Amino acid sequence: MSIAENVAAIRSQMAQAAAAAGRDPAEILLCAATKMNDADAVRQAIAAGVDCCGENRVQELTAKAAQGAYQGAPVHFIGRLQTNKVRQVVGRVSLIQSVDRLRLLQAIQAEAARQGIVQDILLEVNIGREESKGGFFAEAVPDLVQQMGNYPNIRLRGLMAIPPICRDSAENCKFFQKMYNLSVDITGKKSDNVAMDFLSMGMSGDFADAIRCGSNMVRVGTGIFGPRDYAKCHQQ
Ligand SMILES: *Cc1c(COP(=O)(O)O)cnc(C)c1O
Repeated sequence: MSIAENVAAIRSQMAQAAAAAGRDPAEILLCAATKMNDADAVRQAIAAGVDCCGENRVQELTAKAAQGAYQGAPVHFIGRLQTNKVRQVVGRVSLIQSVDRLRLLQAIQAEAARQGIVQDILLEVNIGREESKGGFFAEAVPDLVQQMGNYPNIRLRGLMAIPPICRDSAENCKFFQKMYNLSVDITGKKSDNVAMDFLSMGMSGDFADAIRCGSNMVRVGTGIFGPRDYAKCHQQ
């Protein structure tokens, strides 16, 4: 199947999941997770109508941007971001989805202030409390949201999560539902520099579950581009 056919298939599954939940499919964004896929593949995905591209690595982001891969489509950063690379990301992507620790939040604020811009971000939530993953614990998030007024060059646009790998839909939905509840909680409390527009959750294996549980942004890699070729990659 071509990338265009894959995108069409994903869109139709997204629409089905949205319909099952009584939601309008148009309100759910498809973000192509483009890691380890080259500029040509990225162009095909954009031509096929994905809403945005999500990059995991600064080096790939910079290289593909230089190759004109994104053609004006919004680019998000979705991977672990080292504070010493913040300068290469802030102001170059429309959304940093993976803000997973306080030090990173502070570094983004400092860089955005230096550039004189406001950077949109999501807070990454470690919803399964997994040691292997970054992200804030859910119980820390409401306080953090209240403190966003201290970060004048950041606008918080919502939450992102990568839940643990689950056996089935029911188990998936427990985590997705927790995220949805958390986002509703926060939306109810108005804070400065906060507009809870996005709940980014769901990947190739579980995006339909995520949509049924309230996701409005899914990040799909394998489902669009096929399996990633790890042999082509220097560092995993
Ligand atoms: C790779 C990646 C995805 C997409 O994963 P697939 O299973 O290939 O769809 C989504 N989100 C993040 C943060 C990723 O790193």
